[in-house]
Amino acid sequence: MPVITLNGMPLEAREGQTILEVARAAGVYIPSLCYHPRVGQSGVCRVCAVEVEGARGLIMACITQIWNGMVVRTDTEQVLGARRMIVDSLLSDGEHDCISCEMCGACELQDAAYRLGIEKPSAPRAAGGAPLDLSHPLILRNPNRCIHCYRCIKGCNELVVNEVLDMAYRSQESRVVADQEMPLGRSSCVGCGECVQLCPTGALLEKKALGQGRPWNLERVRSTCPYCGVGCQLYLHVDRARNQVVKVTGVEGAPPNDGMLCVKGRFAYDFPASPRRLTEPLIRKDGAHVPASWEEALDHIASRLRKIRDAHGPDAISGISSSRDNNENSYAAQKFLRAVIGSNNIDNCART
Ligand code: SF4
Ligand code: SF4
Ligand code: SF4
Repeated sequence: MPVITLNGMPLEAREGQTILEVARAAGVYIPSLCYHPRVGQSGVCRVCAVEVEGARGLIMACITQIWNGMVVRTDTEQVLGARRMIVDSLLSDGEHDCISCEMCGACELQDAAYRLGIEKPSAPRAAGGAPLDLSHPLILRNPNRCIHCYRCIKGCNELVVNEVLDMAYRSQESRVVADQEMPLGRSSCVGCGECVQLCPTGALLEKKALGQGRPWNLERVRSTCPYCGVGCQLYLHVDRARNQVVKVTGVEGAPPNDGMLCVKGRFAYDFPASPRRLTEPLIRKDGAHVPASWEEALDHIASRLRKIRDAHGPDAISGISSSRDNNENSYAAQKFLRAVIGSNNIDNCART
């Protein structure tokens, strides 16, 4: 097993690991604005610069694999100076008004600037940059906060394979585009929100969550998506004061979805607070739905099923279990139809 020395600390590593991976596992902070564990490295932001003994110049920690005996420093003046220059130029190239930015407190660029002691960009860009893209019903794009890290592009193309986003043009003109430079809302985007979750800055934001609470005021509650039997793992971001879910993100590093969600799982979270949500059984009486107790409702169902079976036989009854339900409930549903009613007419809506 190779051993490296990181800031004077001997560390065991695995063959093939990068400096960044070893440092992160040891709890040593190295900023990485383009690297993300789910999309890998792009090597474009260069902010993960470190010193490696014997190397000429600084080395990028996200793309450099360790070797036995490697000596790495992440905290020298040369390293910190290079990182400051990079973060300062990213801030200066965009419009970064953290006070009004929805990502304030969760932004990786802001965090890197804070840790490097940068209070404001040394050459702030004049306001009035590129227009916002408000065309999408769920996602707001602010190109002025984009740092061209490629995370959204890799996420859209390689993880969810929707192949909507790409980088177009060169140099100062380069920008993320959807399809053939369409407004996102008119592109082939399916609204999965993967790009929003991967974006390290406030360049991609969820519209519904705007102004709904700062990250430090929200409680993150782990849950399972209720929309289908896949059981994607997600975090509900809850404003406890209002007892309201204000955002949903996927749980990264956990099966079955490793952070990815579909449009329903990520954005259709309003129903718990909906006044139209059913909270008790309803029985139709004289053409109107009337609230009933569970005992009443179950007795009603049982007596109706019995009447139908007695009058027309068990095959007159069929059942469809919901794809939103789990395997155990689907098993119980077919058992009920077969063993109690005596009918084999049972299916699941996921098959249609
Ligand atoms: S993207 Fe980050 S650095 Fe830029 S304004 Fe928003 S919080 Fe600040
Ligand atoms: S929401 Fe999904 S499909 Fe749309 S651009 Fe983002 S990653 Fe691609
Ligand atoms: S929109 Fe966000 S994720 Fe995409 S390149 Fe810009 S900063 Fe990176």
